[in-house]
Amino acid sequence: VTPGAPVLVVRGLSVRFGEVVALSSVDIEVPEHGVLGVIGPNGAGKSTLVDAITGFLPNAEGRVELDGRPLTGSPAKRARSGLRRTFQQDRVPPGLTVEAYLRFVARRRVSTAEIAEALDFFGCPAARIPLSQVDVGARRLVEVVGHLLARPRVLLLDEPAAGLPHSEHVAFGERLRQVPARFGVSVLLIEHDLDLVRSVCDTVTVLDFGRVLAAGPQAGVLADPAVLKAYMGE
Ligand code: ADP
Ligand code: MG
Repeated sequence: VTPGAPVLVVRGLSVRFGEVVALSSVDIEVPEHGVLGVIGPNGAGKSTLVDAITGFLPNAEGRVELDGRPLTGSPAKRARSGLRRTFQQDRVPPGLTVEAYLRFVARRRVSTAEIAEALDFFGCPAARIPLSQVDVGARRLVEVVGHLLARPRVLLLDEPAAGLPHSEHVAFGERLRQVPARFGVSVLLIEHDLDLVRSVCDTVTVLDFGRVLAAGPQAGVLADPAVLKAYMGE
């Protein structure tokens, strides 16, 4: 599938926390059946962007549109409209098996075969294993699988590879690259590992101090001297 017209469009998104301007008039577009990478130094506003898009920051200013329709209201309402997200911190409850957790996250009827296939695709532990026995990196992959099983229009991932050993990043990237075609979803990926961004993302938006520093096709953005400087300055 070739990435198409934007499915998720954000215009003029601004968020402040008291004196801190976390986002200042940010525009982004997630291409249909594509992957938008969002990168930038710590504190640039990446997690705030996902929080605002998904409705966790009701005071955010600006416009969010999904399939050309305004996306407003609570996180639960936006989730029902087709948005799913993961959090930067591990939130997976340890008391469940992998399968019970996946069914809980997916919130729709999913066959055992579909679950097994999705777990296998991501190299995750088997469905019957208790989450308490799954290490944090793999738990976060299980969370991603749960949201994919929900069949959202757009999945927003906040540093999903952060808990994985670096040696597993290449395999994760290869799988993630196949996700739009395989699950019929578009992805916004926040990621620090630029090799992973290079291997997965169609387009990239760079945030720095809450502003868009650069945006466009991946190759051009990652070669932009201003972007490299923002990273070296971290
Ligand atoms: P990133 O994910 O790019 O590292 P964040 O979006 O977490 O950055 O944070 C952006 C800025 O907003 C930072 O200066 C951070 O300290 C501030 N910030 C984030 N969340 C809050 C909050 N709940 N209250 C106050 N300041 C916050
Ligand atoms: Mg963050």
